[in-house]
Amino acid sequence: MARNIGSHYTAHRVLGRGSAGTVWLGEGPEGPVAIKLLREDLAADPDLAERFAHERHALLGLEHPHIVGVRELLVPESQHGATGPAGANGEIALVMDLVRGPDLRTHLTRERRLAPAEAATIVAGVASGLAVAHAAGIVHRDVKPENILLDTSGEQPVALLTDFGVAKLIDEPRHGGRSGVVGTPDYMAPEIVEGLPPRAAVDIYALVTVLYELLSGFTPFGGGHPGAVLRRQVTEQVAPLPGLPDELWELIQQCLAKAPASRLRAAELASRLRELHPALVGLPPLDLGDPAADEERRQASGDADYAGYAEHGDATAALATAAPTRAAVPLVRGAAPDSERVTHTRMRVPDADELAGGAHGTARAPRAPGQPRAGSARNTTAGARRRRRLAVTVAGAAVLAAVAGWLLFSGGDEGGGGDGRGPATEVTLVDEADVG
Ligand code: ADP
Repeated sequence: MARNIGSHYTAHRVLGRGSAGTVWLGEGPEGPVAIKLLREDLAADPDLAERFAHERHALLGLEHPHIVGVRELLVPESQHGATGPAGANGEIALVMDLVRGPDLRTHLTRERRLAPAEAATIVAGVASGLAVAHAAGIVHRDVKPENILLDTSGEQPVALLTDFGVAKLIDEPRHGGRSGVVGTPDYMAPEIVEGLPPRAAVDIYALVTVLYELLSGFTPFGGGHPGAVLRRQVTEQVAPLPGLPDELWELIQQCLAKAPASRLRAAELASRLRELHPALVGLPPLDLGDPAADEERRQASGDADYAGYAEHGDATAALATAAPTRAAVPLVRGAAPDSERVTHTRMRVPDADELAGGAHGTARAPRAPGQPRAGSARNTTAGARRRRRLAVTVAGAAVLAAVAGWLLFSGGDEGGGGDGRGPATEVTLVDEADVG
């Protein structure tokens, strides 16, 4: 059923639903458009409407062949002022260029893995869009396959990044509260997990995580509970993909460096991938086995690999010995692995006191006591003890958050509002299934 959006646009039918709202196929004065209507609860938040109105200039100003253009921003009357046209019925609506084609998640699900040349082309395009945004001081903060749309109307598919600034606007703490960890765990740079402000390098980390996923069919640190994924982002090294040309592998490693300053910048990433492209043409998708079949095999064999993985908490070792796919991994022994991809997480960063032991509950190092990290050449007893203490500290936040998240998922209090005393009651995990 058609509905009017503002005074110039009509929404005809739903194109898709996301965590922030519903995207409609619409019509405006210049032809077909896509109209994202924010969820009612978001639109009803006057602070959020004000932030959108405030960012109007930045949202509308980004123009690039690899960025989905925002043509108009409609906010409720009260926030209208001098900032732009008002949305009817108290809605917040983003009127965007219509992209004719699937999102990258849909494409990847269908293809399972992309050939290196195709993956490099997609990522180089998005990187060139990011370069323009970063030069304008805008960080995307939620780069992932769901936010990359493929325009398949021309001869060659064109990748376009969408939802610029939306994650930041929606997730900013309300009423001046403390900032938290916000994003999608599989693509979240380690510095975000550690509570540092997200700068341009977080987009590079996320985009090259997407590149790795396009090539392999799985993300470098994904699988299991979001808390476990966040821990791996901080503590583990990316496992190599057999069969990838060395130069492409080096680029991936550099952009997944834990230190943000070591990563390439967006423009460099785009040009390096374009330089590499001729050498990638003709290479088939990587042959890494069948993740679904591997998973079935693991289940049928009594989850032996999975049990060892949970015991030692060493993803790299598990990846080397098992199939090149990552099983769901519970951080807390006995917890059910979570097969759902959590697409958006928000959690408060514990302060120093809590990390030092003031928090409720017991944080346990993921590796068994006395168990050295596989392949480590530095396994002195004192060193191992020091490293374990460090691991407990680093993993503390994620473990406590994981426990709270697990309680939420297993039927605990869904409010997640927090009482301000301990992480276990202050974690909010937002899943598309919960809010979409
Ligand atoms: P959210 O950011 O709220 O999660 P998305 O931006 O992912 O929502 O949009 C959900 C779906 O709507 C996408 O998967 C895609 O199918 C469709 N969509 C979003 N933007 C456009 C667009 N500009 N043109 C065409 N389809 C779009």
